[in-house]
This record gives sequence, C-alpha cells and structure tokens, in this order.
Amino acid sequence: MSDLKKNILMVNLPFSGHTNPTLGLAKVLVDLGHHVSYINAPDLKEKIERTGATFIPYDNYPETLSPSQKEIKSWSAAYQTVQRVGADFDCLIYEMLFLPGKALADQLGVPAFRLFSTFTLNEKVLKDFGRTGGWYMTAIFRYPRLCRLFSKMIKRKFGLRYGDIVKEMVHNGPDLNFTYTIRDFQIYPDEFPSARYKYVGPAIGDRAEPDFDFSKITNPFIYISLGTLLNTSAAFFRKCIEAFRDEPVSVIISIGKTVKKEQLGEIPDNIFVYPFVPQLKILKRASLFITHGGMNSVNEALYYGTPMLVIPVGNDQPRVAQQIEDLHLGKYLKRKELTPAILRDNALKILRDMSYKESILPFEKKSQAAGGNTEIARMILEALSQIGDSIIRE
Ligand code: UDP
Repeated sequence: MSDLKKNILMVNLPFSGHTNPTLGLAKVLVDLGHHVSYINAPDLKEKIERTGATFIPYDNYPETLSPSQKEIKSWSAAYQTVQRVGADFDCLIYEMLFLPGKALADQLGVPAFRLFSTFTLNEKVLKDFGRTGGWYMTAIFRYPRLCRLFSKMIKRKFGLRYGDIVKEMVHNGPDLNFTYTIRDFQIYPDEFPSARYKYVGPAIGDRAEPDFDFSKITNPFIYISLGTLLNTSAAFFRKCIEAFRDEPVSVIISIGKTVKKEQLGEIPDNIFVYPFVPQLKILKRASLFITHGGMNSVNEALYYGTPMLVIPVGNDQPRVAQQIEDLHLGKYLKRKELTPAILRDNALKILRDMSYKESILPFEKKSQAAGGNTEIARMILEALSQIGDSIIRE
C-alpha cells in the first residue's frame, strides 16, 4: 500500500507569509511522484505551477474585487472549492488560517493535515497575540465577546464543530500538525503533545533564489527588511539610513514594493537599497538582521544563526519579538519609541556582544537538522500508508 502514488489536495488563503513556506511541500511531494493539486487565488497560479502541482483557482472569486475584498472573500471561495473537489483526494493539507480545514475534511471523509506558519496555536498563544498584536487580524482574540459574535456568524457558513473560533482552532485540529519552526523557539511548548505536534524548522531547502552581488559589501553588514506586507513606512527606512550613514558598516535594505527609493533622500555609499532581495543568500552572510519579526524571516535568521533586532508592526510579530528577547537571540525595540540613535546604539551593541551569536548557535544547528518540508512529506506519506493499511485490514 505504501508504494501507491497519492492524490493530494492542498489549500491556502492568498497571504504570502502563509502560502510561501508550503510551496516547498508541494514540490517535495511532486518530486516523490505524487499528484498534488493546490487551491489558491489566481495571483498565486505561477508560483504554484512552478512546484509541479496542478493549480486549482478559487471558485466564485471575481477578478474585479479590490485587494481587501479579495482577502475577505478568499475564505468562502477556498471553502467552496474544497467542498466541490475535495472528496476525490487521498487527503487535505491546509494552513492554519484556513479555519474550517478539519471540519471540511471530516465532511468529505478524507484525512487532514495542518501546517502552522506562525507558532503552534492554543488558547494561551492566541490570548498573547490578542493582547500584543495591535489593530490587526489578531485583535479579535483580545475581545472574547467580539470573538464569540464573529464565531456565531461563521459557524454555520463553514460547518464548524464549535461556535467559537478559538475552540475550533485548538480542539478541532487533525492528528498531525506541522510547525515551521523548531520546538526550542515555540512559546509554551509543553502544552503541545509531541505525538501530534511536529516542529520541522523553516522551509528553506527547496527555495531557489537569484544571485546577489556582494562585491561592494564590507563586513560587518546589517540586513534590514520589514517583510512583504506591513512594510509601507518610508519614515522607518529613513531612520535606518540616518542611524548607519556614518558608521563603519555596510547595510542592505529591502524596502518592498510600496515605498520608493526616491522617498528616502540621499543614500550614502555604505547603504544599498532594493525593492526585494534574495533574503536567504543575504541572511547567510549578515552579522545582524533588523526585522519586523515575521515568522518566516525570523525562522530563516535562526537557520543561518543571524542575531536580530526586532521592530514589530503587529499580529504575531510583537510576541515573536518578545520570544527573541527572552531567549537572548536579539533585542525587541518598540516602533513608537524608535529614533536613529536608539537603532544605532542597539545594533552596535549586538554586533559587539558575542553572547547573542553564542545563544543563537544551538538554534542554527537544530533548525538545519529539522528537515523542513522533506520531513513533513515523509510523515504525511507514512500516516497515509498506515491509514491505507488499516483500511485493507478491515
Ligand atoms: N523576502 C525575501 N526578500 C525580501 C523580503 C522578503 O525573500 O526582500 C521573503 C523572506 O525570506 C520571507 C518572506 O519574504 O520568507 C517574508 O515573510 P515574513 O513571514 O517574514 O513576513 P511577511 O511578509 O509575511 O510580513
């Protein structure tokens, strides 16, 4: 039974931080000879097809919607699509943001597997996110009444088991769950039984990146990025330039697609500004990473043993920043209090103080040994073959 090729369905919401790490899983499964179909928004078609998976666009998802309408609509569009095609597959793999994943898989009679691109979640973690995450998606977990009201609205629509989204996430999960970090970085790790919750480190091994020209970069060098979504503050990047213009360091800044280089004033010779860079290649060599604390970026920095200065924007990022500070892997700076002098003093402190590099070393070793998407694929296929064997026995 274990030799049979599987027909695997993956589904995700169209958020890059939630989709990107999972693309490698599709590729590993395809490379092993399995057939993978991946449901997502049309914007993701090319990225998904590059993995070798068959792309299935969301049903009922008009091109004419605005970006924020698309984000809201994506939940029901993804749900309807899985409902229509899902019964023909051997399993459903979903990322945790697709809340009805397990309920829907049960409805369809297929086994489910869940991926976490943030920390593994339970009531305590979600409460922390609600308390610290600002006015972003996680704010709903700060207000239990609002959360219950919202839960009631969506329970029937998505066939959820519980009338409470926190309960649904925590108590209606699959038997096997995979998180893209290592257990040492997880908050409240003892609350997640090891038989069900697996930590595989970041999705790095299968990511192809273009080359980067390091010829003008001298050591030590600092890499700065606020990720791809909450990166719209030109003022933040101006502070970074001001902080490091007269220092004996090179600085690479990824400003994203919203802020334009022209908004940043005169850029000194030791600072190099790009809209997007091959982050893994850069993190591998950087002495310090100034980051917003997005989980993907942070796990990548752990993988390469690069200490961090974290300036979170919202959602899970402030809690991630706190964890980095608590584990002495870097420092947490509050965005509102940030000045060029504070930025410079803290960055130079981390560069001079080798204790940060020493604390991160075990995280680097464990992240590199954790297996990433290859390990997830191995465990899913093993679970599927056991399910197959037990059906044959029956
Ligand atoms: N990234 C990159 N080059 C850049 C900026 C970002 O490759 O110039 C990648 C980065 O490696 C990470 C992702 O984009 O995998 C950002 O994800 P994260 O969860 O850190 O932040 P988000 O964009 O979701 O806020």
